[in-house]
Amino acid sequence: MNTITDTLHTHLEQLCQQRQAAGLYRQRVPHHSPQGPVLQQDGRSYLNFCSNDYLGLAAHPALRTALSDACATVGVGAGAAHLVNGHHHYHEVLEQTLAAYTQRPRALLFSTGYMANLGTLTALLDRQDAVFLDKFNHASLVDAARLSRARLYRYPHRDLARLAYLLQHSQARHRLIVTDGVFSMEGDLADLPALAQLAHDHDAWLVVDDAHGLGVLGNTGGGTVEHFGLDSRTVPVLIGTLGKAFGVFGAFVAGSETLIEALIQHARPYIYTTALPPALAATTTQAIHIAIQEPQRRAQLHARIAQLRDGAQALGITLSGSPHTPIQPLILGSNAATLAASAKLHRQGILVTAIRPPTVPIGTARLRITLSAAHQPAHVEQLLVALSSL
Ligand SMILES: *Cc1c(COP(=O)(O)O)cnc(C)c1O
Repeated sequence: MNTITDTLHTHLEQLCQQRQAAGLYRQRVPHHSPQGPVLQQDGRSYLNFCSNDYLGLAAHPALRTALSDACATVGVGAGAAHLVNGHHHYHEVLEQTLAAYTQRPRALLFSTGYMANLGTLTALLDRQDAVFLDKFNHASLVDAARLSRARLYRYPHRDLARLAYLLQHSQARHRLIVTDGVFSMEGDLADLPALAQLAHDHDAWLVVDDAHGLGVLGNTGGGTVEHFGLDSRTVPVLIGTLGKAFGVFGAFVAGSETLIEALIQHARPYIYTTALPPALAATTTQAIHIAIQEPQRRAQLHARIAQLRDGAQALGITLSGSPHTPIQPLILGSNAATLAASAKLHRQGILVTAIRPPTVPIGTARLRITLSAAHQPAHVEQLLVALSSL
């Protein structure tokens, strides 16, 4: 090795050591099973309480069949970006399905939610503009806001008085408020009606990233927008991911004809990347149909959420978050305590990830428990027994 690569590796080792010393080092653990309530790891079965497969669709038999059938017909890769010749009929069908599902004129597919956020904010904003974010917004929205070059304001979590103050004093050409619908590490909801009112009062645009709300909240699974009885007039830009409740992969933005055409022209993470495999798009279309046709999945999920929250309360354990979402964090505070609790659950055959800074603020490390429609009441019972031993 020459000396310049030596300095590279010395630098990287230091970065890793800092993470290690702070109890923040992260490791990936492979498992060997389909996503579901029970996972196989190192030859042992574990009850899984950390996936985002909220409706239990990731390994659904009909979706496995849909994928292999579509694959047999159209092959594997898209082969090119959408604007070259990667845009397949199956992408069109999925976009129409998503537009109908979200009750908007159009939808546009992206390869991931991260890219949908980058693409949307960079297309809508420029240097003369201002963007307002809740402190607990997802990392991809923070990165998107930075990349947009708009002036960035972050208000304390759900502090709408502070947001109103910031909006009132902004001289920017355009103002854009962007929020998670369901906060991914808190499991609570943005106050969308109040945000919509503020946006109206201050001539601001409202963008909602409903990664954890779509498919889960609202009577038809329309997400936080439906939960609060809002629509595309109050929330003109809706972003969703397809790898969580819908069990597959990818993401989309839904809104007006003009919004979608502008994104096709200007969203660089849409333009300069390979289109999703068309067979995945066909599979996702099936997943949306199942989410619509099997409302009992949502009912099962909400029954498990109530079971966990009631059971925890009876044990004197306080889960933060909301009674409406499948994300039920148990905040323990220190990194070491959270790692120890996660390890203890692991020894009892239960997987719950320890979420630590920088994903959450310092001093608020937590067990992020997530539920799925695929969990049985007995699974949640077992989790409660394990939690009572902590
Ligand atoms: C998971 C998540 C994303 C990223 O979506 P991917 O499709 O996994 O890239 C974006 N926003 C929020 C709020 C998320 O929770």
